[in-house]
Amino acid sequence: MNQPPSKYIITASEAESMARSKGLSLPQLLPSLVKSAQDLARTPISNFAVGAVGLGSDGRIFFGCNIEFPGLPLHHSIHAEQFLITNLAAHGGGPKLLHIAVSAAPCGHCRQFLQELRNISETQIVITDQPEENPDYKPISSILPNPFGPFDLLDQETPLILEKHDNQLSLKHDSSIIQNGITPNLSNGNCELIDTNEEALKTEALEAARRSHAPYSNCPSGVALMDCEGKVYKGSYMESAAYNPSMMPVQAALVAYMVAGGGGYERIVAAVMVEKGGAPVRQEDTARLMMKYISPKCDFRVFHCV
Ligand SMILES: [Zn+2]
Repeated sequence: MNQPPSKYIITASEAESMARSKGLSLPQLLPSLVKSAQDLARTPISNFAVGAVGLGSDGRIFFGCNIEFPGLPLHHSIHAEQFLITNLAAHGGGPKLLHIAVSAAPCGHCRQFLQELRNISETQIVITDQPEENPDYKPISSILPNPFGPFDLLDQETPLILEKHDNQLSLKHDSSIIQNGITPNLSNGNCELIDTNEEALKTEALEAARRSHAPYSNCPSGVALMDCEGKVYKGSYMESAAYNPSMMPVQAALVAYMVAGGGGYERIVAAVMVEKGGAPVRQEDTARLMMKYISPKCDFRVFHCV
């Protein structure tokens, strides 16, 4: 897939040439990149930066880092390993995550979230923030023995994260509920930009919902964000078998924003969410809360699908 250059993704050919120039294999190269991933973290609460670097089976290297949001409950935080998996999934990486290097031991939440990748027990992990010629990789199964995972709840054929999802969804014709919470003319002065792009944002958010991984609740959802230049970033909801480590679609869209080089969140002027109306699991209120804190003048619209 052709993606613009990103600090968060290294192409397969670039990765090969970096490894070759250092006389290393790709797995040996990963620890030397962890510090660069850490440097991308946004941690105004903890000041504890975590970096995660993963090698996908297509040869690309994906970065993840932790993100914290002042003013919001801690569960809105994005962990480095979750960021990495979201980055990998959104950019068609895979179908496997082969090796991962992380700057600190993964927390229980991330060990659990990793279970949403098929055969994750075989993925090799090393915990280090230093370049190492002989990194001490161990299988993920060694850091989470006896895991609770997707197949405790699903059959083997259900697609997991990094596998193709095509939730059959379409927008409800009469569902254009515009719920700003603010008057449109306060939307960073970008009302015209937003109105002109509403259809495109709806299409992107619907596409993100179609790609979401929501096998436990059957409540798929997606978010599309637009910045003040009219660029669009989308994120798909990704559930965990253990529920709490799930990635909200607004978090996934923020990951897309950062991977694409997005800067301050206040540059995000519009958010469109698509989800099922009246569903038992809904993202609207929590997404609205998150956008209210990180970009107070962002226009937020929700459209329901069936
Ligand atoms: Zn974690």
